[in-house]
Amino acid sequence: MSGSTLHPTPAPETARRDRVIGSYSTGRPGPIVVVTAGVHGNEPAGTLALRRVFDALERDRVPLKGKLLGLAGNVDALARKVRFVERDLNRGWHSDLVRDLLARGDAAAEDREQRELASIFVGLFAEARTPVTFLDVHSTSAGGAPFCAISDTMRNRRLAFALPVPVILGLEESIDGTMLSYLDDLGHVACVFEGGQHDDPLTVDHDEDAIWITLVTAGCLAASDVNDLGRRRARLEAASKGIPHVVEIVHREAVGPDDGFVMRPGYVNFQSIRKGEPLAARADGEVRSTWNARILMPLYQSQGDDGFFVVRAIRKFWLHVSTALRKLRLHVLLPVLPGVKWHESRLDTLIVDPRVARWLVLQIFHLFGFRRRTDEGDRLVFSRRRPDFRKLAPVDYGSRPPA
Ligand SMILES: [Zn+2]
Repeated sequence: MSGSTLHPTPAPETARRDRVIGSYSTGRPGPIVVVTAGVHGNEPAGTLALRRVFDALERDRVPLKGKLLGLAGNVDALARKVRFVERDLNRGWHSDLVRDLLARGDAAAEDREQRELASIFVGLFAEARTPVTFLDVHSTSAGGAPFCAISDTMRNRRLAFALPVPVILGLEESIDGTMLSYLDDLGHVACVFEGGQHDDPLTVDHDEDAIWITLVTAGCLAASDVNDLGRRRARLEAASKGIPHVVEIVHREAVGPDDGFVMRPGYVNFQSIRKGEPLAARADGEVRSTWNARILMPLYQSQGDDGFFVVRAIRKFWLHVSTALRKLRLHVLLPVLPGVKWHESRLDTLIVDPRVARWLVLQIFHLFGFRRRTDEGDRLVFSRRRPDFRKLAPVDYGSRPPA
């Protein structure tokens, strides 16, 4: 379907009533913070944390600047306590698909959920004067430390590094079309927060801590507006003690419905793994580690297509180097590398000859904030998120802005 259809886009208030967990504003100008929770319906902890935050804001009449909006992600799946009904709501957030969905008159299951969310987002984009901060709160089937995950832009680092939990880089290289990826590409601040195990009461506490810290980092609240900010920071810090501060994804174990994938029991997030260690079983044999690294999000539930991830620490030194390189905008020199050239038509996109894309080249791209995206034929395509020094991208609404 083309984007030129004249179907009106639904106004945000046509979304189901239980979509909006809360909306808090005191009329003071300031940034917009959006917290989404339960994008996976078997992860309700974030919705409980949001209710606590809204209760406290209203009870204490906290002088918040701007606005906090709390949204339930997958309303139907939350009611049924399943990850999703027909498909993963955290996939398929490509701008052309979203535009088509907004233009459609009908949608069911996750299409409907996505359409309602996208409609609210588009309304916020029109309202926002500065990038909107999105915190997408999740939980994991395995236990272990809380963490956050971002696309590696400077604006995202600012929020992620303010949360005293490990930061995961490179998730977007292994998962395509996530909601935050879509928001990132439009130039907003976007961070996933994983508070802990689905049913652990501590996960709700961690989620609440992360929401308060996000409100302070975004500039909606002063640190002094949050009574127990120090205790909240300390709680998150304690939960992730001994784990590297920044790690990068080096492997995603993709799982299909017929793979017969069974994770070996007992793994938790960030647990160390050794080369040769048996990690899981598949119908076609055993999965052994080929890394001395750490495991992340081992799958202990029936729904989901990520068996586990493998992560490795990034040294602080390299983070400083990459900050300097980006401030100096030295990415213009990347095409000097053999086999690397700018994409003919796409902005901020490089084409790489796979014969030269060895590990070192990958690392250099990462330093500049470029990640491998879709590949075109035998060419590897690297692009970076909307850089921090550019204006927000105009949103393509199709034929008309939302009502
Ligand atoms: Zn999730």
